[in-house]
This record gives sequence, C-alpha cells and structure tokens, in this order.
Amino acid sequence: MRLLLVEDDALLVKNLKAALCADGYVVDTADNGIEGEYLGAVEPYDLVILDLGLPQRPGLEVLQNWRKSGLKMPVLVLTGRDQWHEKVDGFKAGADDYLGKPFHIEELMQRIKALIRRSHDVHEVEIKTSGLVLDEERQQVRLADGRDVALTGTEFRLLRYFMLHPGRILSKTRLTEHVYDMDFDRDSNVMEVYVRRLRDKIGKGMIQTRRGQGYVFGGDD
Ligand code: CA
Repeated sequence: MRLLLVEDDALLVKNLKAALCADGYVVDTADNGIEGEYLGAVEPYDLVILDLGLPQRPGLEVLQNWRKSGLKMPVLVLTGRDQWHEKVDGFKAGADDYLGKPFHIEELMQRIKALIRRSHDVHEVEIKTSGLVLDEERQQVRLADGRDVALTGTEFRLLRYFMLHPGRILSKTRLTEHVYDMDFDRDSNVMEVYVRRLRDKIGKGMIQTRRGQGYVFGGDD
C-alpha cells in the first residue's frame, strides 16, 4: 500500500512516517499544498493523509482540486484542535475521514486500515481471500491448513496488495509502485524474486504468471 502524507509539521511527519513504515506502508511526503496536490494527481496512492493548514495552498483547496479532476483515492484529513467547521468543510470537499490534532498515532493507524479495507469492500477486520488470512498486526499469514507463516516487510506489503486485488492482472510496474517508495529502481527484476519467495511460502499455485502482463493472485474463494 502506498500512502501520501501532506503535512508541514516536520516532527509529526518524521514520527508518522516511522510508524507507517513499521506497519508496512510505503510513504511519500510533501510539506506544502502545491507539491502535495501534484504528487496526489500523478502517483497512484492507496490513501492520502492531508493536513488542512498547509503553506502555499490550503489542504481544502488541494482536496477540492483532486475531486474536481475525478481522483477518488481515500483521503483522511488532519484538522487543528477544535476546528469543527474544518471537519464539516473537509467532508464537503470530499474527505473520507478526519482526525483532530493532537491525536494518538495508534488511532490514526486503525483509521487508515479501516479506510483501506472499506475502499476495497472488505468489511471484516482481517483480510481473507483464497483460503488465506492476513494478520496485519503480526505481519504474518495463515494458510488454508492452519499454519501461520511469518513474512518479511516486503513480502507482507506485496501479499497484502495481492490479497486486496484477487483475480486481477497486476503488472510488475503496478506492484512495484504500491510496494516501494519513489526512490526505488523500478526497472530492476527484484519483483520476480519477491514473487518467487512469496510462492515458496504460500504455495506455488496461489500466484499465476501471465506472460507479458503480470501476475494474478488466487481468485476462487
Ligand atoms: Ca499544518
């Protein structure tokens, strides 16, 4: 899952980025409204965390511009303390959720997970598909035979993306975009290596290769 964090408070960005990365998210950041709006428009984010009080362009305007141009990614808005009218304005502009500052990082984490599940029509707490159950807290997967298998950070990010898109052809480029941040060398073949390792853990048949197109995960529930 690839997230965009648009926030100008450098300390908050540092803490949030560390917590999000530890939970297996790839995070790009912008510290002003203009750069944030640009990144949100050109990169395929699974979710955006958007502060409303931003330099150069207010967060509300950024959000309105995204929605006007048809961008539908879930957006969680961060508002100042007791700024109830900001929350109302945020929802009107197309926010999916909000959190008032100061907040506990754990609450933000749970809201992000809920928003991502909702945006994929997953309404249970665990992600279950094709006989697998993904444990997001422990970053491990339960196989159909009941065995729990530990995953590395990259394997976890990759499997979560597969499990949220079962039966769909996912190109290597798309997988790379959602599993690594902007600085990653996207031309490399490491995605094939990670898919192979994942197959060794969850079963060869779980991920099909479509020559020239990419990979398809599971499919029959
Ligand atoms: Ca701010």
